[in-house]
Amino acid sequence: MSTFKSLGLDENLLQAITDMGFETPSEVQEKAIPILLQEETDIVSLAQTGTGKTAAFGFPMLQKINPDSRTTQGLILSPTRELCMQITNELVNYGKYVKGLNVVAIYGGASITDQAKQIKKGAQIIVATPGRMKDMIGRRMIDISKIEYCVLDEADEMLNMGFYEDITEILSHSPEDKSTWLFSATMPKEVASIAKKFMHKPIEITVGSKNVSTDSVSHEFYLVNARDRYLALKRLADANPDIFSVVFCRTKRDTQKVAEQLITDGYSAGALHGDLSQNQRDIVMKSFRNRQVQMLVATDVAARGIDVDDITHVINYQLPDEIETYTHRSGRTGRAGKSGVSMVIVSKSEVRKIGAIEKKIQKKFEKKDIPGGMEICEVQLFHLANSIKNTEINHEIDMYLPTINEVLTDFSKEELIKKVFSVEFTRFYNYYKNAKDLNASAGSGDYSENDSKDTVRYFINIGGKDDFDWMSLKDFLRDLLELGKDDVYKVDVKDSFSFFNTDTKHQELVLGVFNDFKLDGRNISVEISKDRGGRGRGGGRGRDRSRGRGRGGFKGKSGGRDKGGFKKRSSGSGDDRPKFAGKSRRRSERPQNSGTGGKRRRRN
Ligand code: ADP
Ligand code: MG
Repeated sequence: MSTFKSLGLDENLLQAITDMGFETPSEVQEKAIPILLQEETDIVSLAQTGTGKTAAFGFPMLQKINPDSRTTQGLILSPTRELCMQITNELVNYGKYVKGLNVVAIYGGASITDQAKQIKKGAQIIVATPGRMKDMIGRRMIDISKIEYCVLDEADEMLNMGFYEDITEILSHSPEDKSTWLFSATMPKEVASIAKKFMHKPIEITVGSKNVSTDSVSHEFYLVNARDRYLALKRLADANPDIFSVVFCRTKRDTQKVAEQLITDGYSAGALHGDLSQNQRDIVMKSFRNRQVQMLVATDVAARGIDVDDITHVINYQLPDEIETYTHRSGRTGRAGKSGVSMVIVSKSEVRKIGAIEKKIQKKFEKKDIPGGMEICEVQLFHLANSIKNTEINHEIDMYLPTINEVLTDFSKEELIKKVFSVEFTRFYNYYKNAKDLNASAGSGDYSENDSKDTVRYFINIGGKDDFDWMSLKDFLRDLLELGKDDVYKVDVKDSFSFFNTDTKHQELVLGVFNDFKLDGRNISVEISKDRGGRGRGGGRGRDRSRGRGRGGFKGKSGGRDKGGFKKRSSGSGDDRPKFAGKSRRRSERPQNSGTGGKRRRRN
């Protein structure tokens, strides 16, 4: 295995690499860095999002430019302001031991005179978005007539965003004999044509197979009636209390609408789209980065720049028009060695598109059911139990304990537990008890399933914490129970517990095996869940009561901590949700969590 040193990097860069904690080069770095260091060549490099492309071009560029000269020698074009700033930051970090280095970011939405001033001081490397760059070249604020290296980063994204003309214009001001380094996650024909037009015999390197999404992402789809889309979204969020997600909508309007509705319904959500001012976007992104916003609702264009690790779920509220876009969306999760889930909410008329996406990404989707009300109640209940278990005690309350004890003196531990849970749970239960089944039937589609079967849903007290995902848990159960391939289904893994189904005929076997079962010395218990999982339940009448329900009810960020406090929701959106006198706290009154980002439990 190669090291950064063996790739040919200089000592001052190696020192920065050590400081940053990078241990070994990623595949794209391993392939690109030696070539770029040794040859003056054009290159086309295809690698998924999150594979370390910035360093793959950043290090060679830093090593090759002359920091003693004030001439602009390297230009990096990137699609969005966010990315532009990110790349600039990375380069500044990589080059912190390069004396005299000046990397300047050029992007729209900020003062052009300030940027021009910075350039004037002498910038060896400029990182720019195409629009602003073209503008500044036009105003003769920037001279790129002597650049030696030009990087087209996220080329597919730039072309998607309609920057073809701008790029052509910009490059017409650069020398013929420069080297052009193109980096892209995918290779649509537009990128191929730009490579052909602007590059000379480029060396092509590919990491992984082209257009295939990463293995760390599993793909799921949920079939609902179009009018239930929003309710389905909420259920998915409720069934995943620790969700940290990007929700993709197709239009700015839908993006705004869904975000507003989520906020009204008490979720920590935010909107990101092009009609917002740059300042508004920055605020949303900041809240998202530090986890104050758990659900970022975004358009594809606006989300281009998002490079946030640890996103647990990408939710396709609507499918994109272009399949290619799906790859970009799902690539927002499952980064940096973590696993992630890409969920698609589809209506009957769109379900065929799933097959087309499967073909493109060469991965299978799992058809899953929108969780029923009872299942969500159970998830939230156990989540509450775990939150209580993991809560650090706040000793500020010590002085009130005698009085509190006096009030509660007549209750046993058991009664107290029941009461504590009822405080949150009754409310929750009332919202969900009559919730209807949101799953639409597939009709004649390819994705019909065992919905009419006599089925039992089980709860089991192992989950993601024990290193299971749905596939490994399914395998584990099948092996243990000695059942056939399709006999264990609807496996849903949460953090510290999971659900699965078998046909009723296997119920005795399952309960028997788990009657007294230990895994690594720990008692594993399986119980029949009240929810049958997906369809086939009663309670189909009436409207969904979950509207306006306190999703945060069992999870909170009060007191600057991640677990423990109970977030209360704002009042609902004018529906009939029960009101809890004195319990609902307005959002603005909610304790702010200050910088708890790093404390959030990382998912692996
Ligand atoms: P891409 O441009 O391919 O989407 P980035 O260049 O943004 O990926 O890198 C993704 C993340 O991985 C960044 O946080 C970066 O600092 C980190 N990273 C890059 N190379 C390495 C490495 N060799 N070892 C560890 N982390 C790395
Ligand atoms: Mg990148």
